[in-house]
Amino acid sequence: MTRTPLVAGNWKMNGSLALVRELAGALRDAKPEGVEVALCPPYPYLPALGEALAGSGLALGAQNLADHADGAFTGEVSAEMLLEFGCRFAIVGHSERRELYGEDDDQVASKFLRAREAGLTPILCVGETLRQREAEETDQVVVRQLMAVVEAAGVEALERAVLAYEPVWAIGTGLTATPEQAQAVHAGLRAAVADRDADIAGRLRILYGGSVKADNAAPLFAQPDIDGGLIGGASLKAEEFIAICRAA
Ligand code: PGA
Repeated sequence: MTRTPLVAGNWKMNGSLALVRELAGALRDAKPEGVEVALCPPYPYLPALGEALAGSGLALGAQNLADHADGAFTGEVSAEMLLEFGCRFAIVGHSERRELYGEDDDQVASKFLRAREAGLTPILCVGETLRQREAEETDQVVVRQLMAVVEAAGVEALERAVLAYEPVWAIGTGLTATPEQAQAVHAGLRAAVADRDADIAGRLRILYGGSVKADNAAPLFAQPDIDGGLIGGASLKAEEFIAICRAA
């Protein structure tokens, strides 16, 4: 089963118009072959980044979206708006959203459904905390987070979706899961999908995220069930991000 690798940069609440220009310019000049690349800046930078990336083959994504269609939801941004500004992807269920903004499995499933309904490809994030890993609950936690979406949306919904395994203890900490640790979780997630539909499981891209850097990306991406990465801090540095894309 060949799956085109995807590397998505999650800028989180970082960046500026200067960074939009710098990164778009550098990536246009150095777009790696054989890998899909997406950039997910904060909402206000989407139009400028979309323009700067036009015709480059690089994709645009959002970091979040509302779990409702347009209406009286002050401060929210809908899937349709993201689509209008050229987004192809939307990250849903990032652990920072779950932890800092109280998003639970149900809300994550609603956002996933909204994204798909509007025509966006959701990048669904799952991951365990350090306490859960130490209690040997990793597989149980990530499969529960995944199944909350599968129950709500149906396994077919994973046909146009991407999964990202991001151990919470590895995000922004400099700690990375070893390639073997990550592979084990990825294989477990794929097996859980295969229980419902083996073909869909075989086609599903599962990204790894959590302190991926230029110097640790290659052995992670070489694992059979790791199909690219969701990159935070290192996606803000052009050279490093390009090196990560090349490793995929
Ligand atoms: P990090 O973040 O690469 O800075 O650890 C990854 C993420 O949160 O998506």
